[in-house]
Amino acid sequence: MLKLSFAPSGRHFLQIPGPTNVPDRILRAIDNPTIDHRGPEFGELGKKVLAGMKGIFKTKGHVIIYPASGTGAWEAALVNTLSPGDRVLMFETGHFATLWRTMAEKLGLVVDFVAGDWRHGVDPAAVEAKLAADKAHAVKAVMVVHNETSTGCTTRVGEVRAAMDRAKHPALLMVDTISSLGSIDYRHDEWGADVTVAGSQKGLMLPPGLSFNAISAKAIEASKTAKLPRSFWGWEEMIASNATGYFPYTPSTNLLYGLSEALDMMNEEGLGRVFARHDRHAEATRRAARAWGLEILCLEPKEYSSALTALLMPAGHDADKFRKAVLNAFDMSLGAGLSKVAGKIFRIGHLGSFNDLMLMGTLSGVEMGLSLAGVPHRKGGAQAAMDYLAEVAAKPVAAAAQ
Ligand SMILES: *Cc1c(COP(=O)(O)O)cnc(C)c1O
Repeated sequence: MLKLSFAPSGRHFLQIPGPTNVPDRILRAIDNPTIDHRGPEFGELGKKVLAGMKGIFKTKGHVIIYPASGTGAWEAALVNTLSPGDRVLMFETGHFATLWRTMAEKLGLVVDFVAGDWRHGVDPAAVEAKLAADKAHAVKAVMVVHNETSTGCTTRVGEVRAAMDRAKHPALLMVDTISSLGSIDYRHDEWGADVTVAGSQKGLMLPPGLSFNAISAKAIEASKTAKLPRSFWGWEEMIASNATGYFPYTPSTNLLYGLSEALDMMNEEGLGRVFARHDRHAEATRRAARAWGLEILCLEPKEYSSALTALLMPAGHDADKFRKAVLNAFDMSLGAGLSKVAGKIFRIGHLGSFNDLMLMGTLSGVEMGLSLAGVPHRKGGAQAAMDYLAEVAAKPVAAAAQ
């Protein structure tokens, strides 16, 4: 177990941007006997979660569920649609975009990787310029990360789609929504995404272990001629079995119980309210950051993430020392800076199963931690967040609805 400076009581605050806090309702759902995945009961569960996920992706097309982490679903997106030597266009928005690029190269794709500063989402104008210049249509796919979890910047996927349409380019659009699905509005069909990749352990409030592909008819068409080797990740066998709610190999039965419960919870709250709640917590967090005098890593307000906020440490102060102080004193985990920004930033996750008072506990822990670690800041960040949350709470409920 963790070595804290004291034996913790009460709940650990898991404020990393995934895995997120798993609500008791979901833990209880998972804690049911594992059933025969070829038996009569299973098909109903399979049908329910497959149909339910279509609602979350906002698609009428197929959704594939893998017993794998998000990385597996990244691989599935590539191997089902592309062939060795195919050119793809990707953007260096941060750590996860970089990892997806590395995977694409390992699989034998040729990646045009547009450099970025880790403080912005993908620029739709850059997508348009790149594709307009590709007269021969050599680029087979454009891949973007909707919510770059390493930076707290989002990409405006609908605008990327519009840029591709203006360039009249036939490339597939693939989107990583691993840390945005169920937290930030996403529309697979409306935005013309061909493959959307997601995972269970972030906005969907589940433990790690499930991942998803939402796929368009055009992506299925591409899969018929795609030559990258695939077996475990193949869509065809999945779609055939899924028609009756079953899977070609053993699914993560107990995580599917959890997914069924998560879908009920999101539908009871209403997706519009789920997104409004994430927006509210992100805004409260940014107000706290400004009051502390800490800089928000994301430079473009239109691209601020509602799932997490990444903050820069004042020069000469190590973000990891600060995070360690917070963990030891207050039993709260904050997200680390990854690769290029290691030690320079910390990330506050405010996604998944979360509410105003959990956010206030989180921000209080950050403010106390800043004092404890001797990080220069102004007091009053938690107060600024409280003022904002109280102001929003005083407004009629309808304002926050759908
Ligand atoms: C977490 C995350 C991943 C990696 O997913 P795993 O489940 O760890 O394989 C990829 N992309 C983004 C945007 C993520 O947030």
